Amino acid sequence: MEKIVILTGAGISAESGLGTFRGAGGLWENHRVEDVATPEAFARDPKLVTTFYNQRRAGAATARPNAAHAALATLQRDYDGEVIIVTQNVDGLHEAAGAEVLHMHGQLDQALCAACGHQWPAPMEMQVGEVCPSCGGGFGRPDIVWFGEMPYHMDEIFEHLVTCGLFAAIGTSGQVYPAAGFVREADAAGAHTIELNLDPSSVVSQFAETRFGPATQTVPDWVKGLLG
Ligand code: NAD
Ligand code: ZN
Repeated sequence: MEKIVILTGAGISAESGLGTFRGAGGLWENHRVEDVATPEAFARDPKLVTTFYNQRRAGAATARPNAAHAALATLQRDYDGEVIIVTQNVDGLHEAAGAEVLHMHGQLDQALCAACGHQWPAPMEMQVGEVCPSCGGGFGRPDIVWFGEMPYHMDEIFEHLVTCGLFAAIGTSGQVYPAAGFVREADAAGAHTIELNLDPSSVVSQFAETRFGPATQTVPDWVKGLLG
């Protein structure tokens, strides 16, 4: 059976009550991206950025996975071939639904030491100057890949993209690279490509197939078709 690679974005968690990134005019929960999601923002105002992610962590902690997360977990369990799920999301809803995923943009429930790179479970309320349990320095920060930083697992992801038979992007606006470039890689390697989204993404023309609608409807339908 051909390998399936699935990229998910904020749209898959929207119906679980988590706000998307660009939903309301380029703002994430009323914050400008430049104010909360860059290393410069953290250097300038660590309190604001820490508080922002504390709020996102609290929101994600009470959110429940929806039918789209559940369908992808079912696909990963029941499909005869390999199903690789790569998410740009920093929530843990894929795992809560029972799936195994690669978090390319980090995770809200993890902390990262800016000095030594150690990662550990984040407390619900992180403080500025969180002490690293490994090196003892006070350089703890949310383990989130900010704009200008290198996403996680890129070698492994590209390896999967060039060896898959089917690539799907779900609930992502196609404005954040390198994720927005995955469709081109998979297509060039000969995979069938499909976008499932509420609105067409910026890279929609690069997909062979598209299905538009809320993820809780389009994703279970699509999975049903794949499992036959
Ligand atoms: P985005 O906000 O830029 O785009 C969201 C996409 O989801 C849009 O294409 C929109 O049409 C679609 N969408 C909205 N509601 C939907 C629904 N009910 N069903 C299906 N699709 C729906 O998101 P992005 O492309 O993932 O880029 C956002 C960045 O922001 C990522 O890097 C991510 O780390 C971060 N982010 C994460 C979360 C989260 O973890 N839940 C939330 C907000 C932002
Ligand atoms: Zn450290």
